Amino acid sequence: MITLPDLPYAKDALAPVISANTLEFHYGKHHRAYVDNLNKLIAGTDLADASLEAIIQKAAGDPAKAGIFNNAAQVWNHTFYWKSLKGGGGGKPTGAAAARITAAWGSYEKFAEELKNAGVTQFGSGWAWLVLDGGTLKIAKTANADTPIAHGQKPLLTLDVWEHAYYLDYQNRRPDYLAACIDKLINWDFVNANMV
Ligand code: MN
Repeated sequence: MITLPDLPYAKDALAPVISANTLEFHYGKHHRAYVDNLNKLIAGTDLADASLEAIIQKAAGDPAKAGIFNNAAQVWNHTFYWKSLKGGGGGKPTGAAAARITAAWGSYEKFAEELKNAGVTQFGSGWAWLVLDGGTLKIAKTANADTPIAHGQKPLLTLDVWEHAYYLDYQNRRPDYLAACIDKLINWDFVNANMV
């Protein structure tokens, strides 16, 4: 049995970049639906009492468990996405992330451009990520529900590029949503905590 974690802030905490209306649907309907669907799919199976991470690892790559994988990964990705954002965040990194991002990309501006580009160029639904891959910082993108934790990578931050993440506030303007999140919402404290 998997439970829906509380949002780490009030539903209006990310406004005006992401409205309370979007969070009402995105957290209250979409994220909750992934939790509910997952619990229906694992009820009475050997995954019923497994952790979310164990469910993802056991279902990854198994066509017979695609529904379980998709819902479990979406639960995990969304919980990680909420933590990746905060009101008054974004802009240049602080702490260890600042030096490591400059070392990897040359400048924060170049990093921000590449992170945005990963989200813009993800065809259809998916996620843009900053990950540690064997100790190396990388920008990545995944399709649909796919998640770096199924590929041996350690996520540091993510941006949801499913239309439901931005359509109410930005309609089809995914690049504007991404630019605003990067400039105003990234939770660098969370990124730094994940790097340790
Ligand atoms: Mn979403």
